[in-house]
Amino acid sequence: MTDGDVHAGGPVLVLGGTAEARDLAAELHARSIPCVSSLAGRVQNPKLPVGDVRIGGFGGAGALRQWIVSHDCRAVVDATHPFAQQISRNAGAAVASLSIPLFALRRPEWTPAVEDRWTTVADIGAAADAVHGDGQRIFLTTGRQDVAAFAANSTDWFLIRVVDPPTGDLPPRHEIVRSRGPYDLESERTLLRDNDIDVLVTKNSGGPHTHAKLVAARELGVDVVMVARPALPVGMVIVDSVDAVLSLLTARIAAR
Ligand code: NAP
Repeated sequence: MTDGDVHAGGPVLVLGGTAEARDLAAELHARSIPCVSSLAGRVQNPKLPVGDVRIGGFGGAGALRQWIVSHDCRAVVDATHPFAQQISRNAGAAVASLSIPLFALRRPEWTPAVEDRWTTVADIGAAADAVHGDGQRIFLTTGRQDVAAFAANSTDWFLIRVVDPPTGDLPPRHEIVRSRGPYDLESERTLLRDNDIDVLVTKNSGGPHTHAKLVAARELGVDVVMVARPALPVGMVIVDSVDAVLSLLTARIAAR
């Protein structure tokens, strides 16, 4: 097959790494709709989806487009983390000149309750500026790639929760706790209380698995610095549930 010669009878490519991506792969598998899940390969011992999986970067938007063409993909679902911007940009560029659908599966954002004490900021740099205080105790849950943004802060103490250890610079006063969600309310309440946390810093990832920390913060009167989601590339169809993306995919497949 030559480049651009897409018959689109092949698998759905699911750009994954999230619980929603795994759920979607399982549902497609259950319906005997061919699917390949793609993982970046950065997390040690990732939770693997059901069915075919490929691991590692494609090598940019052009190489992703070539992969889609050579595998005759019938659709692409960008079900990556809401803060994984580069792969979403690449998916938008790769599919732009192909006549197959591209859906962005994004879990709904968290929204504050009236009792919440959130400060919403545009990006991780603004979050680092927002917490530069006088000896506060900060619970940092923004992921290992963003810890370095706080490295210059020598006045506050950080409890840094990560799946895999951070590789960049760290703030001088910190403790690292390694774990993987989901987390329940009782353990989050205990963690915040035992560590005398003043401020929680988190990205607005959404979803139930890591939501309990926000409820615990609300109960204990802990301030929250919430990093807002980046915008998705123009033209992506945003879908907020696995059921909705399944309906769209099955409708497209039936229409062929
Ligand atoms: P990214 O910046 O969007 O992606 C960087 C590169 O990784 C892409 O250009 C691509 O490489 C490769 N890649 C990413 N996702 C892929 C996939 N599903 N399949 C194949 N290749 C993939 O994403 P990121 O560096 O992974 O993450 C950026 C931000 O998102 C960080 O802030 C991170 O903390 C957050 N994030 C959080 C979670 C979480 O569970 N909390 C998970 C993922 C990301 P090529 O260009 O070579 O194709």
